[in-house]
Amino acid sequence: MKNIIILGATGSIGDSVLSVIKQNKDKLNLFGITFNSNFNKASSIINEFNLKNVYTDSSESSSYFRHTFKNNAELNIFSDKSELEEMLNSDQVDIIVSAISGFAGLESTILAAKTGKTILLANKESIVVAGEIVLPLAKKYNTKIIPIDSEHNAIFQCLDSEKSTDDVSKIIITASGGPFLNKSISQLTKVTKNEALNHPNWEMGAKITIDSASLVNKCLELIEARYLFNLNEKFFDLVVHPQSIIHSIVTYQDGSSICQMSNPDMRVPIAHALSVNDKRLNLNFSEIDFSSLQLTFQNIPEDRLGIIDIARYVCSYGGSSGIIFNAANEVAVQNFLEEKITFDKIYEVIYRTFDTIPMSKNIDIERIYEIDNQTRREAKKVVKSIT
Ligand code: NAD
Ligand code: MG
Repeated sequence: MKNIIILGATGSIGDSVLSVIKQNKDKLNLFGITFNSNFNKASSIINEFNLKNVYTDSSESSSYFRHTFKNNAELNIFSDKSELEEMLNSDQVDIIVSAISGFAGLESTILAAKTGKTILLANKESIVVAGEIVLPLAKKYNTKIIPIDSEHNAIFQCLDSEKSTDDVSKIIITASGGPFLNKSISQLTKVTKNEALNHPNWEMGAKITIDSASLVNKCLELIEARYLFNLNEKFFDLVVHPQSIIHSIVTYQDGSSICQMSNPDMRVPIAHALSVNDKRLNLNFSEIDFSSLQLTFQNIPEDRLGIIDIARYVCSYGGSSGIIFNAANEVAVQNFLEEKITFDKIYEVIYRTFDTIPMSKNIDIERIYEIDNQTRREAKKVVKSIT
C-alpha cells in the first residue's frame, strides 16, 4: 500500500489524484491533505476517505474544522508549519503530490523536497522560480521528483524514466493553443473572462487556464522542462497540436521519435507517476478512437513568439529571471480575472515588469521571496498605469 499526501487537494489536480486513488484502493491510500480555503470540499474528502491528517494555514478553515469534526477523535487537524513538516516526514508516507497553484506552492514543495520521499510534481511555478534550489535539494535528500504536468510526464515516459539524455536530439513540447489559438493578440482586447476560462480540451484551475489561453503556460512549461530534464533550452521545440492527444515527443539521435498519447485527462499522467517502478495501475480511461483520429500540428503564432523568447531567456539566464517572469504573470492573471485589465494587457504587464526589475544570477530562498515581492509591487504599478 502506498500512502499519499496531496498538497492542494481541493483543486483540479487534487480531484484527478483522488479519482485515481478511488480506482486503486488496494494499492493506494490517502494519508493526508493540505488546502487553503475550500473547507466544504476538504470536509467531503475527509468523510469519503476516512482521512486522518489535514493541514491548513488558514485560521478560519482550521477553527471551522475543529468545530465540525470535534467528535472525530482520529482526525488530526494541523495548522503549524512544524506540524506540516512532521506530517510530510512521517515514516508512513511514500508519495507527496505537489498540487498547489502558483508561487504559493513553493514553500511546501521545498519541504517535500527535503523528505526523501517521492514527489509527484504538478506545481510548475515552484520549479520556474526555484528550480536551481528545489532540484539540488531533492538530490541531496534522495527525493525523487516525477512530473505529472502532462507534457513533462510524457517526456519522462519517452525518456524511459531516468535514462540519461545523452542520445536525445530534440524534445518537442506540444501546446493545445487554448481557446484563442487563431486570434491575434490585437483581437483579444474584448475577450471575456468566461471565454478565456473556457479551455477547449482540459478542465483545470482558473490560473493555469488563463495561462493556457495566453500561452504563458507553455513558457512556464519550457522553463520547467529545462530544469527537470537538465537540458539546454535549445533542445526544446514548441509546437501547437490543437487536439491534445500527443503530450510531447522525444527524438533520439538515431532518428526515432517516441511520443506518449492519451485523450486529455490528467488522471493518465498521474496514474503513470503513481506506478513508477511498478506495474501500471488500472484506470477507467476513455480510449483514443484511432479510426477517426486526426492529428494536426502548427507553429506557435508569430505574435506569441515574443513571450516565448522571454521564457527562453529565463531558461538560459536562470537566477532571478524566473521569479520575475512568474510574479509578473501572476499579477497580470489575477488582475485579468478581477476584470481590471483586458486579456491582451497580460503580455504588456509581463514585458514591462520584466524589463524593469534588475536581474541577478545568485538566489537563495530568502531572496526568492524578496524578488517575488518586489516584482509584484512593480507589476501592480504597471497595472495601475494602464487601467
Ligand atoms: P486549482 O486552483 O484548481 O487548485 C489549487 C489548490 O491549491 C487548491 O487545493 C487550493 O486550496 C490550494 N491553494 C491555493 N493557494 C494556496 C495557498 N496559499 N496555500 C495553500 N494551498 C493553496 O489549481 P490546479 O488547476 O489544480 O493546479 C495546481 C497546480 O498544478 C498548478 O501549479 C498548475 O499549473 C499545475 N497543473 C495543473 C493541471 C490541471 O489540469 N489542473 C495540469 C498541469 C499542471
Ligand atoms: Mg501541461
